[in-house]
Parts: sequence; C-alpha cells; structure tokens
Amino acid sequence: MNLESPVEANARIYSAPKVPAIAICLDGCEPEYLDKAIADGLMPTLKRMRETGTDRLADSVIPSFTNPNNLSIATGRPPKVHGICGNYLIDPDTGEEVMMNDVRFLRAPTLFARFYEAGAKVAIVTAKDKLRALLGAGLKFDDNRAKCFSAEKSDTSTAAEHGQEKASEWLGMAQPEVYSAALSEFVFAAGVKLLKEWKPDVMYLTTTDYVQHKYAPDEPEAKSFYEMFDRYLTELDALGAAIVVTADHGMKPKHLADGSPAVVYVQDLMDEWLGKDTARVILPITDPYVVHHGALGSFATVYLPQAADQGDVIAKLMNTHGITHVLTKAEAIDRFELPGDRIGDLVLVSGENICIGTSEHRHDLAALKEPLRSHGGLTEQVVPFIVNRVIDLPEKPQLRNFDAFYYATMAAAL
Ligand SMILES: [Zn+2]
Repeated sequence: MNLESPVEANARIYSAPKVPAIAICLDGCEPEYLDKAIADGLMPTLKRMRETGTDRLADSVIPSFTNPNNLSIATGRPPKVHGICGNYLIDPDTGEEVMMNDVRFLRAPTLFARFYEAGAKVAIVTAKDKLRALLGAGLKFDDNRAKCFSAEKSDTSTAAEHGQEKASEWLGMAQPEVYSAALSEFVFAAGVKLLKEWKPDVMYLTTTDYVQHKYAPDEPEAKSFYEMFDRYLTELDALGAAIVVTADHGMKPKHLADGSPAVVYVQDLMDEWLGKDTARVILPITDPYVVHHGALGSFATVYLPQAADQGDVIAKLMNTHGITHVLTKAEAIDRFELPGDRIGDLVLVSGENICIGTSEHRHDLAALKEPLRSHGGLTEQVVPFIVNRVIDLPEKPQLRNFDAFYYATMAAAL
C-alpha cells in the first residue's frame, strides 16, 4: 500500500488501509432484497459475510435519493456539509430550476480527493454518468493514481479525463443500455478487474436502481440481480479486500391496487389554496432519467409566496392524505441536516406507499411500465451495512450509510 498515515477528510480521520478498502453502494437496496435472495441460496458470499463478518442496518440521509446519499458516502458527511441535497434545485443565485450534478454545487472535498492527495490510488466506477463528475471532483488523472468512469459512457472514457481509455474495450464488455441490469454488472466487473490488475487503495463501486424500481424483492428478476452481484462479491472478497456493502436508499411500492401510481399532487393543492403558481413545489428526484419513476418520490420542498400564512398551509398539508411529515425550513435543516439555502420554506415527506407529485398534468406516467416503486422518504431510509471483517460497529440510527469508508478503511487497516 502507498499510505503510511491516516487521512483527514471533512474533520473525520480515515485509517491508512493495508489492503484495498472498498465500499459498494447497491442503489435502491431495500434490505428485503438481500433477505429474499439469501433465503433462496443465491448469495452464498454475502450470507457468509453476514455470519462471519459484521451485519448491521444503517440510516441513509434524507431525502433518500441517489445523489445526496452518494455524495454523503463520498464525503463522509450529511448534505449540509457537501451541499448536494437532490438531483434538482432552485438555484438561490438565479431563481432558476437547475440540475445539481455540476461540481460547482459541491461544497466539500471528497474523501477520494483527500486520499489521492495523500498519495493513494483511488478508483471510482459508477453506473450512471450523472454522478461521475461529482464523485471525481478533485482527482487528477495524469499520474495513473486515479480512475473515475461510468458504465453509461464507457465507450468514450479517456485516460486524460477518466483515468481509463475506452473502459468498455478495456473491460471486454459492451457499453450497456442505460436502463438495464447490465449497467450495474459493468460496475462490478470493472471493480474486479481493477482490484486484480490495478490494485487501488480505495475503491467505490456504485450501481443503478433500475432493477429495484421495476421489481419487488420476491420477483425473479430482482433475485437474479443479487445472484449476479454475489458472484462478483465472491471475487472481490477472495482478492483480500476489506469490503463494506451498503445502499443509498431503500425502495417501496407506491401504487394502488390496480397498479396505477399512488400520488398526492401538491402543486395542484397549493394552486387551489394560494392561487395558481404562487407557490413552487420542487421534487428533487427529478432528473433526465425518469422512465422508471416518472419523477415521483416521497420527498418534496415547497417555496411559499411571502403573503402565505405558513401555519395555515402546514395545517392543511398535515390533513392531506399521504403526507406524513411537514417540516419548516429550520426543522428540516436541524432534523435532516440539509443546506438551508437549497431547500424551500417547507419540506414534505409522504408515506410508505404513496409519493408526491407536482401537478397531475406535468408527470408523464405513460413511460411507467410496471406498478410504481420509489423512494425519497423516511420509509426508505433503512439500508444494509455489511462488512466482510469483524469490526466494532454501532447500530442505526448512529450508524449511517455515509460511514462506509470510515469503517472500510478501518477494516482494511486491521
Ligand atoms: Zn438511488
């Protein structure tokens, strides 16, 4: 290994790993997915890790969305520190609704950048390209000590920008379709090849929840996904790495008995209560990849007009079917550790089997082929946290998914 001393990142001290320290973020991995696949005998390695390593549940950050949690895992801190609290926000500088996947929105260094600066070899492989720039912030690719590429754009990765020329060719695996299980398989396969041939000190593998949005834990497509993962996990484990398996968030069914989405359309309610378009409802799940969730999740933030009676709106929302939590901005900053300048006046969370929409006509639900499964709220906060070493870990709620590298490096230093 290239490191002798611990590495500091965002006021946390990470051990210098003696073997490769790997965190795997299984996108949308509700713990039940693992339970069902293990019960069917499809995940022998993960089953053994649970029995002979350390098996916990952890809390994700809220909103239980992909980007906030991936950046928390990458920085070891909640969104109020790193600033990424959704896929989408109203830019406080311009008032415009913009995507938050630009590096200018990131307010803290990643632990990957800190390890790189300290002399370590760092590898990051993501399924979707939307995370790549954020996760790779601060890395340099001119001395063969950093790699950061996505499966989605693996045909066009370059040594100069990603540390890997044509990753698909290098791996011998075609660039997968963006909506596929293969997009995640590419990530695992690349992780195994990197570990064998390039030997990173720190490696992050993060997948896509395409399968989890479509299939419930007891469906064969979900089980075969985890069976596939376990084959790669077996190889990573056998190569001697210290591994933490966790997730960015869980996943719950959010549809009615007839299969149509269960939605409370909050922009429509606001228009009725306060006048058309005077309040703005923002769904931070919104991103260009809406095919599997129709931009419907269990978290929203609302910008109220100045004249609005906030107490009255809160009371009405609390009486609205499906809404379980209504927090003021101050309460949301305190409870969910969110950056106050990137959320509205209210934060809303919906229940386990219902999600929040803006206006009914603005959601294109025709693309949803299966009954809606989604995330974003408190009912999707609990995620697995499994280590292939015996290590002293707290239980949730103290244990957070963004402790993944803290404990992966600790296990790798044993
Ligand atoms: Zn996700």
